[in-house]
Amino acid sequence: RKQYDVVIIGAGAAGLMCALTAGGRGRRVLVLDHANKVGKKILMSGGGRCNFTNIHSGPEHFLSANPHFPKSALSRYTPWQFIALVEKHGIPYHEKKLGQLFCDRSSKDIVRLLLDECRAVGVEVRTHTPVTDLRVGTPHTLTTPQGPVACKSLVVATGGYSIPKMGATGFGFDLARSLGLPVEPTRAALVPVTLDARKLRQLKDLAGVSLDTVTHAQGSSFRENILFTHRGLSGPAILQASSYWQPGEPLEIDLFPDRALVEHIERMRRERPRLRLKNLLGEQLTRRVAQRWCELWVPDKRLEQLTGEDMDRVRQACQPWTVWPDGTEGYRTAEVTLGGVGTDALSSKTMACRDYPGLYFIGEVVDVTGHLGGHNFQWAWASGHAAGQHV
Ligand code: FAD
Repeated sequence: RKQYDVVIIGAGAAGLMCALTAGGRGRRVLVLDHANKVGKKILMSGGGRCNFTNIHSGPEHFLSANPHFPKSALSRYTPWQFIALVEKHGIPYHEKKLGQLFCDRSSKDIVRLLLDECRAVGVEVRTHTPVTDLRVGTPHTLTTPQGPVACKSLVVATGGYSIPKMGATGFGFDLARSLGLPVEPTRAALVPVTLDARKLRQLKDLAGVSLDTVTHAQGSSFRENILFTHRGLSGPAILQASSYWQPGEPLEIDLFPDRALVEHIERMRRERPRLRLKNLLGEQLTRRVAQRWCELWVPDKRLEQLTGEDMDRVRQACQPWTVWPDGTEGYRTAEVTLGGVGTDALSSKTMACRDYPGLYFIGEVVDVTGHLGGHNFQWAWASGHAAGQHV
């Protein structure tokens, strides 16, 4: 039986950060992953350029049953610490918008950084290695196709359910449940929403059009674009709102985020009474969307002809446009899993499990979910670092 100080299950963002941190402290570390290569989600992230952090990342960008939980780890490993690592490796990067940092070249640069750091401190990384049996105890013992392994510290970094095709499993959630630890209900988040057949018929030829909005769900709002798709709605505003949206609830989408629409129409009516409503709406909504809105919900009259009732209809169709999704695209396309291992079971400083000495949960498997824009990787780095400092 091979002995290690630390075994980490899952060679993703959190697992590799934990490994290089623990290795840097002289620990003997093994990272196991059942997939054929490490960091698959890093590779596909940010459209292949990995939005590896966000300079504004702070606790307000995370959802958790206990919103205070992520504070400690996030404050002890900041975006600037990860940026310093990126710069140390000479990786070119840029800010895209809203503090989001992306690689100039490719996500591969981030995987290489993590593996180079791991190699430099003697971390052993094994792919194609599922865990076929696991006993939590002192020591923890694991069975793998390459033989049995024992360790003092066991770190679970297996991520969530999203993108099962990339090797995502519920391993961490199942393990937590089998140990009697709390698991907050899981669901797909940062995910496009779907619309029913009737609504899709109305909107389907708008697929590909994107609009600047403020999108509201359950008291949270996001100033970002929405995108019409063949199945419903996507785009950053919708992905963000999906983390808050509950089935049976609406999304409220303000299509005129910079102005009060009715007052704007009144003003234009005085200045250009013969302007058609479709043309006025088209300035913001694009011609195609304005045309469709006029066919479906608002009369295409000259501004001088609009009645009070017409004005109400315009407001109802645009400010906000209320949409009732019938679901989401689910884990097949979701960027993350909401919910997960309950934070009550863990130390916010070290990610160690209170009831099982030497057992840790880090990254997405924990009930901490970030907003779109690099926050989920920042959580993976910060929680991985927190555990890596303690194992
Ligand atoms: P993961 O990175 O998912 O790693 C888990 C690892 O565990 C995997 O390697 C997996 O193979 C392994 N594993 C799973 N089950 C087992 C098992 N039973 N045995 C052994 N190994 C197992 N976040 C951002 O911040 N910025 C972005 O640009 C961004 N883009 C994204 C794009 C897409 C398409 C997706 C799906 C996600 C994106 N995310 C992004 C989210 C981000 O990828 C995750 O939040 C992050 O990867 C979580 O890190 P993790 O280490 O906890 O889990």
